[in-house]
Amino acid sequence: MAVLSPASFVTKGPSSSSSSSSPFPARASFLRAQSISGSEQTNLRSSSASKSMSEFKLKVAKNSTGMTKEREIDDTATLTSKNLFDGLKERFLSFKKHTYLENIEHYESLAKGQAPKVMVIACGDSRVCPSNILGFQPGEAFVVRNVANLVPHFESGPSETKAALEFAVNVLKVQNILVVGHSRCGGIRALMSMHDDVETSSFIGSWVSVGMNARKRTKADASNLNFDQQCRHCEKESVSCTLTNLLTYPWIEEKAKGGELSIHGGYYDFVDCTFERWTLDYKEDGEVSVKDRSFWC
Ligand SMILES: [Zn+2]
Repeated sequence: MAVLSPASFVTKGPSSSSSSSSPFPARASFLRAQSISGSEQTNLRSSSASKSMSEFKLKVAKNSTGMTKEREIDDTATLTSKNLFDGLKERFLSFKKHTYLENIEHYESLAKGQAPKVMVIACGDSRVCPSNILGFQPGEAFVVRNVANLVPHFESGPSETKAALEFAVNVLKVQNILVVGHSRCGGIRALMSMHDDVETSSFIGSWVSVGMNARKRTKADASNLNFDQQCRHCEKESVSCTLTNLLTYPWIEEKAKGGELSIHGGYYDFVDCTFERWTLDYKEDGEVSVKDRSFWC
């Protein structure tokens, strides 16, 4: 059976081609935008989205009947979907030809069941796909992504992240949990921008409040830094708080104490493409420290 290597996705996938039907034509402008600050990027994107939305509203306002409005909205949606799915179809068929069929034994085995050794908790940010940056192949990692790669305390209410943890740890019996934070995280920026009280007026505010302890620690430890630097500090502090929150789950703590489960933190900086990782050292007496910290550059 051929070995699946990350390179097979890079060299054979349509993303490396110069096809004009790519659904993501903005890639070049994104690369140029990496040289500007996170806040400037956010403003640029808001401005662009706002312009697009105002043009859309203007178009609708010029029409007088409901029927006309509906047709124009549908036409816009169809055009967008067609361009998107032309590109995705090309990518999928390329994946099937160059990856799936060339490794058919591996995929037939995966069809019978999964036994990943690692669970990854990462941000939903489109720039930090764990399989892309760490080369996870199908079957290797159980991945849950949410805003700002947070894990709520065990005693808070239900969430999809908790369900994913329960499944990965108790059913799949993963041996590792890796929490990956990242640079210029919009979720952490939202957390750092809110008031000291838990923000409940929006879904984003309610969710990122899970990281309130990281925000408090950052405000206490990094008050001398400017806001962008505080956000960066909080991105890492938040990963540490998330690792601590993981230990509030009795079945995680038990497995960590027994050596059946290792808990790792990671931080991906996509500005200079570096990755920092560390592992929690959980002693039987409950004392927690950090070990095996390394920096990949
Ligand atoms: Zn993020």
